[in-house]
Amino acid sequence: MGEVRLRFAPSPTGYLHLGGARTALYNWLWARSQGGKFVVRVEDTDQERSTAESTRVVLESMHWLGLDWDEGPEYRADDGRTLGGGDCGPYYQMERLGIYAQYAERLIRAGQAYRCYATKEEIAAEREAHQASGSKAGFRFESPWRDKHGEPDRPHVVRMKAPREGKTGWLDRVRGRIDVPNETLQDVILLRSDGVPLYNFGVVVDDLTMGITLVARGDDHIVNTPIQILLYEALGEAAPEYAHLSMILGPDGQKLSKRHAAVGVLDYREHGYLPDGVVNYLARLGWSHGDQEIFTRGELIEKFSWDHVGKTGARYDAKKFLHVQGQHLRMLPNADIAMHSKPFLEGKGVQVDANDVRLVDAIEHVKTRACTLDEIANDVEYFFKEITEYEAKGRRKFLTPERAPYLEKLSQLVDGVASFEAGALEAAVLAWLEADGLAMKDVAQPARVALTGRTRSPGLYDVMVLLGKDEVLKRLKDGADVARTPVEDAVSGADAGAPGA
Ligand code: GLU
Repeated sequence: MGEVRLRFAPSPTGYLHLGGARTALYNWLWARSQGGKFVVRVEDTDQERSTAESTRVVLESMHWLGLDWDEGPEYRADDGRTLGGGDCGPYYQMERLGIYAQYAERLIRAGQAYRCYATKEEIAAEREAHQASGSKAGFRFESPWRDKHGEPDRPHVVRMKAPREGKTGWLDRVRGRIDVPNETLQDVILLRSDGVPLYNFGVVVDDLTMGITLVARGDDHIVNTPIQILLYEALGEAAPEYAHLSMILGPDGQKLSKRHAAVGVLDYREHGYLPDGVVNYLARLGWSHGDQEIFTRGELIEKFSWDHVGKTGARYDAKKFLHVQGQHLRMLPNADIAMHSKPFLEGKGVQVDANDVRLVDAIEHVKTRACTLDEIANDVEYFFKEITEYEAKGRRKFLTPERAPYLEKLSQLVDGVASFEAGALEAAVLAWLEADGLAMKDVAQPARVALTGRTRSPGLYDVMVLLGKDEVLKRLKDGADVARTPVEDAVSGADAGAPGA
């Protein structure tokens, strides 16, 4: 057996969306599990819609997901590494026109394709006549050039000479046996008059010349597969295997779209998702391995197989996606989370060294609740940044004039505590509450709002230790000052009052 070779063939007309990313992933997983090669080919023949920017975004998305290609377009990663290149290039279809011309010629010579000189008007007239005849059968253009020759110099397209009898089929790795009667097939155009191939021809020539052994792609291409298999036969070559993947659906059962989820893979990067979490979730969206949900990349490579890819569309579930993210986040050491969170903190105006022990410690306290890097940054930002605004509800409810003395008393206790650590702080606070007949709830939430600006945070004493004594004293004082100031009548609550103003 020769080398196993898979490919992903994006059309660079937009983002790499989740469906495309999953197709790329399954191909990549299979290539890696079989010790084969993963090839990327850019199908840029739709010149009006293809852009260099889209190619860059697709490649960047794949690189971010860790779906590195062994052969394909060249790409320079941030770390200076260059991906791509290879012996079967070029990997952009528009740079392969000479190759398509050669293969078209080969088919024409073998009597498997023909030059068709029919004009658009002629074809339209035939279509109208077909409609007028009231025939129920779908329209098929019967080219008068199927069995006769014209001069090669006149403008023409090249059409496939599709068989009219028999059937064409394959054993799909996901769908099982599929057979299609040939009488339903058209003499599809292979090459346009300007020499640009149409999809089916470009794909066959490229998959053949790139040595692809298995084609996994969306099931919207099932209609094209018989034509492609017939083209291999016409060329006297063996077709690859096929695996057709069902669509990803939205929660409402409709095709996944912008209405349901972020459009592009890079949007997830922006929201602080981890590539391993995205890869895990996408792998499970349409493939299963018992009821295991969480997989490392290595486990996916080891366990992925076409046998357990679903035949029906899997539904996107944003909550589950987030849960899987959280699991992957918690697999990381705190120091790594700190490093990956840094850009998100910077986005919130927080400058902190990724090695700062306070950051690493703060992460330990928030990571059980956070699922993404953005949530981590959000949950730790107040440790490193002055509070400029209190959560409106917390300010109204807990920073009230009658609570101000509690904050001041707490401040004195903190100042006087012999050793500034959680146990000693707790003991001091409990002794005071007991002596003054107060309950924890009288003090805890006002203090939390004063120290963090929020009503939810890690344990109060942990927060204090992370902030450090001076900062705690300052924030308690600011909180007490604000508490004494009446809340303005503003309905919005947005002007919840800033300390030290
Ligand atoms: N460029 C095609 C697409 O994006 C590739 C289809 C295929 O994999 O054959 O749909």
